[in-house]
Amino acid sequence: MTEDELGDLDCHVASRLISDALDGAVGAGDQERMRRHFVICETCRNVSDQMNFLRRAVRQMDGQTTH
Ligand SMILES: [Zn+2]
Repeated sequence: MTEDELGDLDCHVASRLISDALDGAVGAGDQERMRRHFVICETCRNVSDQMNFLRRAVRQMDGQTTH
């Protein structure tokens, strides 16, 4: 892995984008950067999967109909 492949996104930034993305607060450019980071970083990919899973589970438990 080289720094070029990492682009300008490190795990610290990626984790912040992951939580922002759950709120729909991430633009297309940042989503693409996240996707590229997930390709090379299994840790952040797993974090994203878990947060998305938890978010869905909480939503189902709450029985929310919004969004
Ligand atoms: Zn990472």
